[in-house]
Amino acid sequence: MNSLPSCSHCFSSNTYTEPKPPHLGLYCGDCGKWIKWIAQNHPLEAMPFGKHKGTPFNKLSDEYLIWCIQNLSHVSDKLRLALKTEHEKRKARPQ
Ligand SMILES: [Zn+2]
Repeated sequence: MNSLPSCSHCFSSNTYTEPKPPHLGLYCGDCGKWIKWIAQNHPLEAMPFGKHKGTPFNKLSDEYLIWCIQNLSHVSDKLRLALKTEHEKRKARPQ
């Protein structure tokens, strides 16, 4: 169960978010104190590591894409999703 984030200053759980590019901040609605940065779900656009680091997913070879999906069991959900999304896109594309 997730407990509501609360202010460490006044213990209020009345919060609001404010974009502070590239971050999104969570602030206390009562005293205005910054509480934490919220992870934003920007989709990944390129390989974050490996020999194809920095290569956009749509530029990876089919073989490498499939290899990653099958072999990189420890990658983050975000990366896995990005790889699978690219793979689905290719399958949907007419040959
Ligand atoms: Zn507060």
